[in-house]
Amino acid sequence: MYDVLVVGGGLAGLTAARALDRAGKRVRVLEAGPQLGGRVQSRVEDGFTLDAGYQVLFPAYPAARRWLDLEALDLVPLPPAAVIRRGPQADVVGWPPGDPGALGGTLLTRALSTRDKARVLALALRLRSPAPWTLLRGPDEPTEGYLRRFGFSEGALDQFFRPFFGGIFLQRDLSTSARLFRYYFRMLMDGGAALPAAGMGAVSAQLAQDLKVTLNVQVQHLAPHGSSVTVSTSAGELDARQVIVATDPDTAARLTGEDTARGHLSGTYLHYAAPALVDRERRLLLNAGGGLIQNAHWLSAAVPGRAPEGQHLLTVTVLGLPDLPDDALDRQVRAELATWYGEAAVRSLRTLLTERIHHAQYPQPPEYAATLAGHATRLSGVLLAGEVTAMSSIQGAMESGEKAAAIVLGDPEGMSRPRGA
Ligand SMILES: Cc1cc2nc3c(=O)[nH]c(=O)nc-3n(C[C@H](O)[C@H](O)[C@H](O)COP(=O)(O)OP(=O)(O)OC[C@H]3O[C@@H](n4cnc5c(N)ncnc54)[C@H](O)[C@@H]3O)c2cc1C
Repeated sequence: MYDVLVVGGGLAGLTAARALDRAGKRVRVLEAGPQLGGRVQSRVEDGFTLDAGYQVLFPAYPAARRWLDLEALDLVPLPPAAVIRRGPQADVVGWPPGDPGALGGTLLTRALSTRDKARVLALALRLRSPAPWTLLRGPDEPTEGYLRRFGFSEGALDQFFRPFFGGIFLQRDLSTSARLFRYYFRMLMDGGAALPAAGMGAVSAQLAQDLKVTLNVQVQHLAPHGSSVTVSTSAGELDARQVIVATDPDTAARLTGEDTARGHLSGTYLHYAAPALVDRERRLLLNAGGGLIQNAHWLSAAVPGRAPEGQHLLTVTVLGLPDLPDDALDRQVRAELATWYGEAAVRSLRTLLTERIHHAQYPQPPEYAATLAGHATRLSGVLLAGEVTAMSSIQGAMESGEKAAAIVLGDPEGMSRPRGA
């Protein structure tokens, strides 16, 4: 009999299991897939380290600071600026001006008017003082409305906020909750963005260290009886005093009967190998020129070691799941890249992988927080974790796992920690 069985080995499940293991509980993680990490994993293809899609770590996430040894992750900080591409034209804009480099990028850029530059500074001043988690409270509205009310021009929305925050929210229309916008803006100000040298999968691997895990086992049914729960899996039955369900939202709804389904935001990712560095740019490239590309990143320029010696890695993000076969999508993305780099350079790219991720995040419109699931379920002895109880992010997943573990352990400090803290 286990003290706790954790269903799902993504960041939520791994954080819960780690907290319980640390407290001396007999705990096992049951993961349906062949690898841990859920949406945060990496794999090596042909010598290239590819992450699941494209994502970055905000080292200022409070849960990441509590649960990860950031130093051991060998984080490579990304430059605090992005490049806005409109065909051959490239302009640098600083990320939220946390440091002088970013500030310089923002003040000198041609992509923002003087008035918009002043607004960026005013926004940074407004958001830099409150405790970050309090930014998830207060009045809510779509990010677009908030930015307009703050005085940003149409040009700033189209040239900077849609390309940049559209990539974070996986929605270019800026319909996402302004509370989340304020929180992420602050996270960027406090710690920028970084990538582990060995890929994002290193985050999951570190959390999983020393945990007892069974891979390739699908949990199908949970049956509470008396003081324990029987967990039926594709490999037989197991019993535990308590179960934490830390799966994707749809599976959590199926297993617990709770209303956790939240819909899906999808992304499509094209990973290219290049024999030479077509662009020496280490910064994220944001597309403001129309077309399918949301952003692109020469990962081997930003993070040495992601490509084999003498080769390079470019990852392109396209929002949603375009209704095109892979080869047609690849042709269209290459045509757009050719307006940046020319035909010859683009011909030299070799397509490594086209990856379609159906559930990357769930949509978080204004007031989404009021609809989030709690941790309790109608099944006795069964708790929920996973971003559906917090926010659709690495912080949300980790804090949800931490909170489910705190409930099992009866830890008042952990139980009462506010979202985002
Ligand atoms: C492409 C992409 C970009 C992103 N960008 C960012 C970003 O920049 N910043 C950010 O903070 N967040 C980002 N996110 C979101 C973030 O990665 C997720 O919110 C977080 O990883 C979710 O973790 P989780 O543990 O809740 O769920 P998951 O990672 O989905 O883990 C759930 C696990 O449960 C397992 N499972 C499902 N059903 C069963 C079953 N029946 N039995 C056993 N196991 C089961 C699954 O296999 C999976 O491993 C991004 C996500 C993606 C995919």
